[in-house]
Amino acid sequence: MITWVPSLLPLLLATGPQAPSPSPSPAAAATEHHENAPDDPFKLKPLAGGVHALYGRGGNVGFLVGPDAVLVVDSQYKDLAPGIVKKIASVTDKPIKYLVNTHHHGDHVGGNATFQPIAVILAHHNVRKRMLASPAEILRDYPARLEEARKAGNEARVKSLEEQIDWARKVKVEEIPAPVLTFESEVRVYVGGETIHVFHTPPAHTDGDAVVFFEKANVVHMGDIFFNKVVPFIDVAGGGSAKGYLTAIDLVMARVPASVTVIPGHGEVTDLAGLKAFRQYIADVIDVAQKAKLAGKSKEAFLKEVDLPAYKSFDGYDRRFKDNAAAAYDEAK
Ligand SMILES: [Zn+2]
Repeated sequence: MITWVPSLLPLLLATGPQAPSPSPSPAAAATEHHENAPDDPFKLKPLAGGVHALYGRGGNVGFLVGPDAVLVVDSQYKDLAPGIVKKIASVTDKPIKYLVNTHHHGDHVGGNATFQPIAVILAHHNVRKRMLASPAEILRDYPARLEEARKAGNEARVKSLEEQIDWARKVKVEEIPAPVLTFESEVRVYVGGETIHVFHTPPAHTDGDAVVFFEKANVVHMGDIFFNKVVPFIDVAGGGSAKGYLTAIDLVMARVPASVTVIPGHGEVTDLAGLKAFRQYIADVIDVAQKAKLAGKSKEAFLKEVDLPAYKSFDGYDRRFKDNAAAAYDEAK
């Protein structure tokens, strides 16, 4: 189960086997941030038409500076959110009016509380639903995990789980900074001369995925439907699906111009060719799983031997590739 618990996910990411979403590799992070002060986790990348990408420690942030308002996509972690606001203030004195959440994971919504007093937070229905359900799920699932962690002597994990259980006991559902404006299939936001299309795709990364397309700027923020040169996390428990990735990516590609600039949920900003390369990775994982199933191979035997050497350079291959393969095998007919 993936929770969005704001302050604790970094720890969970570092220690939990079910790490929600990957951060860039140390090597990537080093090149990303080489111009920054050592204590500055951010790197700002102006794109087109007032749209910027902001790399930090969680999922990539995107924001649009309009003539009288700012719209932000995703809020990373609780401890980083004030820094996001500061970075935006270094570019514009216009107020932040909207925050779009691309899905419910903690590295994308963990900073929502910072935006809650100033911005309208919007997302797909399931983002709100999953955020509000998280205390009950923690109280149901985490005590057993805590026992395991204690037995294994994993102190960092024990501490993280204890803190989350404690949070879940105390929090009031109405205090959770979930989206207050939700949609089923899509919504448009108009900021100055820009039209921002926020649309849901069939379940891919989760069942609450949204893509944000800045029409005039010709920039699309994909959320975690796209990990650029990074092996994705497919949140099957959160309604995600390997095959859904292909459907979702195809749907986006049919909707945006070929010249679009693409902000992935993780990894560097790229173009449509970069997105297609990631689509090929998903297609290859599905293909190899489908063949194994058709050949009558057991899941266990398949997972033991499966390997796609062409993608070994993707960050997270060692940690998440087999999980992707398992998801694809389960979905194969
Ligand atoms: Zn995610």
